[in-house]
Amino acid sequence: MKIQSKAVHVGDRKRTPPEHVPVTTPIYTAASYFYDRSSRLDRIFGHEEHGYAYARYDNPTNVALEEVVTSMENGYGALACASGMAALQIALNAALMDRRRSVLAATAIYGATIKLLMNVLEPMGIAIHWVDICDLDAVRESIETVKPGCVLMESISNPVLRVGQIDRVAELCRAGGAALMVDSTFATPLVVRPLELGANYVIHSLTKYLNGHGDVLGGIAVTDEANFEPMKQLGRVCGPLLGPFEAYLTMRGIKTFPVRMERQCANACRVASWLASHPKVERVFFPADPAHPDADTIRRLFTPDLYGAMVSFEIRDARAPEVFAFLDALEMVVPATSLGDVHTMALYPNSSTHRDVSPAQRARLGIRENLVRLSVGIEAPEDITADLDQALRR
Ligand SMILES: *Cc1c(COP(=O)(O)O)cnc(C)c1O
Repeated sequence: MKIQSKAVHVGDRKRTPPEHVPVTTPIYTAASYFYDRSSRLDRIFGHEEHGYAYARYDNPTNVALEEVVTSMENGYGALACASGMAALQIALNAALMDRRRSVLAATAIYGATIKLLMNVLEPMGIAIHWVDICDLDAVRESIETVKPGCVLMESISNPVLRVGQIDRVAELCRAGGAALMVDSTFATPLVVRPLELGANYVIHSLTKYLNGHGDVLGGIAVTDEANFEPMKQLGRVCGPLLGPFEAYLTMRGIKTFPVRMERQCANACRVASWLASHPKVERVFFPADPAHPDADTIRRLFTPDLYGAMVSFEIRDARAPEVFAFLDALEMVVPATSLGDVHTMALYPNSSTHRDVSPAQRARLGIRENLVRLSVGIEAPEDITADLDQALRR
């Protein structure tokens, strides 16, 4: 071979199976795969044999990530996507493909999800209805009257941390012929596993706890057996997939996810009870609070002693300028969008996640002008509270 040919062929595509097994899955960037016999590629294209043909269909790095998340959620299969929103969109499209074209969504839900429903799906002819997912009678009545093809909720809602009864909602969905989709980004499979409770789809923004290091944008949709193939087929056609670099980084992040999350949950308990007795704090929202409106559900469905690591609180007598002053005074806690990273983060829902939600709707959701959302990290808890303290006292 001449150097021009060597440059593009040597080292790659070794025919003999390697003797070694890499201990972690490498980053497969190849766009396509070939086999010694074309008949084999033919069988792979025809789904008669498992294998890789083209990166929009399957990629070994993504498959490794999909396997680990599917396993943690006790699901059947998953599709790793370029963002949480991409995962949500492809899952909603898949769920509605052969069901009634309407969605019944929890009112307390992520801001971009509201926009996806209102600005993308509704103009495409999908009817969107809303319900307080923590009010089971209202959910039953809505399912009967609206007859949705899919019910969409979050396992811990954003930002006031309400918790719906996933198992009971799942029963109502089954009776009404609707699929149940749960965005479980805030809870993670360590705290609650919606598929075990009867949900059909679980969505995660991988950007958050599962990757956990603030350096990946990604999402994943995990399903039960009946709903996997249609979603996978849609993914093959639409191509919303996560890139292999991001899949690799997320896989790396997941190795320490349970250890990080346990620490973050424990830290969040400490921060929440510290905030509750702070003179500048009017009110704290945290699922471990015995006075939480969904305390019974939390006790019933969550892993004992784990309540997630999100804490929201209201600063006494504060309006937007005072909240900005608090955020600007933070020295260690990072005042930025996102959550679930190893570092503690603070966010103002009114100017970020719920910016485009109308003031009236915000009021209905209990999102006041003095509300701050904290994602508690893995730092020493006394450093977190010390930083919050000095910023609150400015
Ligand atoms: C961040 C987030 C999303 C969207 O995920 P992206 O990765 O930003 O697209 C969806 N749901 C919840 C609850 C989130 O926190």
